[in-house]
Amino acid sequence: MILVLVEKDLHGAAVEVSLEALTFARSLADAGGGVPVDAVVVGEVPARLREQLAAYGAREVHRLAGDAFDSFAGAAWAAGIETVLATTRSVVVMAAGTPRGGEVLAHLSARADVPMAANAVSFDGLSPFVVHRQVVGGQALEAMQVSGRPTVFTVAGHAVEARPAAAPATAAVVEHVPDVAAADLVARVMSTEEPEPDRSGSLKTARVVVGAGRGAGGEDGFDGLLELADLLGAPLGVSRVVTSLGWRPHHEQVGQTGSRISPDLYIPCGISGAIQHWAGCSSAKVILAINTDADAPMVTKATHAVIGDLHEVVPAINAEIRRRRSG
Ligand code: FAD
Repeated sequence: MILVLVEKDLHGAAVEVSLEALTFARSLADAGGGVPVDAVVVGEVPARLREQLAAYGAREVHRLAGDAFDSFAGAAWAAGIETVLATTRSVVVMAAGTPRGGEVLAHLSARADVPMAANAVSFDGLSPFVVHRQVVGGQALEAMQVSGRPTVFTVAGHAVEARPAAAPATAAVVEHVPDVAAADLVARVMSTEEPEPDRSGSLKTARVVVGAGRGAGGEDGFDGLLELADLLGAPLGVSRVVTSLGWRPHHEQVGQTGSRISPDLYIPCGISGAIQHWAGCSSAKVILAINTDADAPMVTKATHAVIGDLHEVVPAINAEIRRRRSG
């Protein structure tokens, strides 16, 4: 059996990357002759989540219940998964390669004294089991043999597209109330804050996205870009530099470690087009780059480019849009 740790969002639904991990698990299960895929969920299993897990082919949903699971504690979650392993014949334990997924499975592999591979994008051969995983920020792939029972690994975000199973499974809920030692609760989440409602909710599905990078120049450099976004009814998508510097929130980030977008039109302004950013925007149908550097990768790959200072070009575009609309 393949056991997949499924993480929930703040509303109790499965996060997209966990659905990707389930999709990956099903292809592994098929290669292994049709072994079942089960999910492990911490806390409540709302009806919507159960429906999702059934659609993604989970035969059983192992729910970890009890006070120890009221908030996130990596070691406690690993202890809970150990309890599930004791009652099932799991040969593989997987999770999405999120911070939590990585933390929990690292604890699990240490407890079970088995190796772990992080951020797999594909597998190649079951015996020995070999995964390919991204390294150096996605610029290289390495093949890694993982021998251990159970085999433990995480799946890189967006390595596979989340696809429901051809036929839904039962997703029968099995409750476990593991004993968790106090030592497994020494590092646990104290509180969780939901971010303010944001402009990026529609990033993944938007027809038009306005991009902003270091070229914005600072936290105060976004006025013209936000106005352009408003005029076009588009969300703002930003580079990692922008989020790392705290100029804009992380949920607006586009790229390998942010959202993947596929709009009809992407307007990256002051974004160089590093490979990790390109990974998130290369599906855009038309790219209109605005950049001072004619040799920037984003400019050379773009459908159209305006070479110039975004603080001059963007207000000029905004003024022209307003002029045409008022006329
Ligand atoms: P820069 O590379 O500094 O480019 C700024 C651009 O702005 C330049 O092209 C410059 O010519 C132009 N410019 C400057 N001033 C102006 C102006 N006034 N008007 C117009 N143009 C101007 N990056 C992401 O974006 N998303 C990710 O998900 C991501 N994930 C990563 C994961 C890993 C593991 C690693 C190692 C890196 C990741 N990065 C990611 C970072 C990535 O490598 C780049 O550092 C980042 O994308 C660069 O951001 P930028 O284009 O805004 O800045």
